[in-house]
Amino acid sequence: MKISKYHYAAQFPRLPQVVQMIGDLLVRGDYVLGQHVEEFEHAFAEYVGVEQAVGLNSGTDALVLALRALGIGPGDEVITVANTFHATALAITTVGARPVLVDCTADDYLMDLDQVATAVTSRTRAIIAVHLFGKALDMTALTAVAERHGLAVVEDCAQAVGARWQGRQVGSWGDIGCFSFHPSKNLAAAGDGGAVTTDRADLSAAIRTLRGLGQAGQNDHVVLGCNSKLDAIQALVLSHKLPELEGWNAGRRAVADRYRQALTGVAQVPASAGPEHVFHLYQIGVDRRDEVLADLVGAGIDAVVRYPVPIHRQPAFAELGLAGDFPHADRQATGTLCLPVRPDLTIAETDYITDQVIAAVTGRTGASR
Ligand SMILES: *Cc1c(COP(=O)(O)O)cnc(C)c1O
Repeated sequence: MKISKYHYAAQFPRLPQVVQMIGDLLVRGDYVLGQHVEEFEHAFAEYVGVEQAVGLNSGTDALVLALRALGIGPGDEVITVANTFHATALAITTVGARPVLVDCTADDYLMDLDQVATAVTSRTRAIIAVHLFGKALDMTALTAVAERHGLAVVEDCAQAVGARWQGRQVGSWGDIGCFSFHPSKNLAAAGDGGAVTTDRADLSAAIRTLRGLGQAGQNDHVVLGCNSKLDAIQALVLSHKLPELEGWNAGRRAVADRYRQALTGVAQVPASAGPEHVFHLYQIGVDRRDEVLADLVGAGIDAVVRYPVPIHRQPAFAELGLAGDFPHADRQATGTLCLPVRPDLTIAETDYITDQVIAAVTGRTGASR
């Protein structure tokens, strides 16, 4: 059996309608911002439960522009977690600030909030909270730490669109939420895309100016901005998919439940997180990780390691001197792998995957049903 991580055909329940709308757009020429982007921004803000969403061209730019809008730059420090995706730390360096890393925890590999308080210095301006793998951080505890030290909170929601903490969506807790619509994410554009969400009118206004070359009006460039807008075609695709997202995330949880039932006691599996986890990835901890991974890939399963090189070991950051003691992030890099999670995986497919994991972990072959 071949089981891929992505299956885009299943993401367009009304494909002819989207194609028709894209066709209309192509001949009309309304490509940059305009009605489709505004419609998506409104729908997305309402979905997340915030005043404003601003469409951008990637999740990476969402992080960069969030930090810029908060006035973070050279001389400032921003705390984040050592096992995040490269873009989180890159955004901090892009604005000229310094990433300060903390480890993740051993059980769910999310930012260790106890370490955040000890990482705060007189230069610390913000925390980037990363809701990794689709699971929300404890935003009650994180908000308390941030308030105690007077820090801004930026949420990296790239892997967690639709996830909630205590019933409230990620991206609505911090000063600003940053989302990616990269094709690999739970809400996928047909190319790059991103957005920020916020209740703060000053931040949304600043980011609207920044994304449009720093223009306050035509030929009136008031700040050094950049060109980072969500494309109208992408907004159309995203508006088409957004109403499906809750159902898709529920489908991901159902797959995760089947994995957990079959693999408890076989591998380190994520705890059940009720209806709030959106399982962007299903990460398991196993011994002999590389051999197990090779067996799964050999069996046609699109299993991957996220991420094999943690931030403190990446060559791009070598000159920053980020080296430190992050044993759990290292353990994630060397001892875990991710199984495909798609809402449309059938029971036969998840059974096949879990049988192959059991066979690979126990060294048994022929466990197929
Ligand atoms: C994907 C991702 C990003 C970057 O998003 P892009 O749209 O690819 O720029 C940032 N942070 C995390 C945690 C991600 O997974």
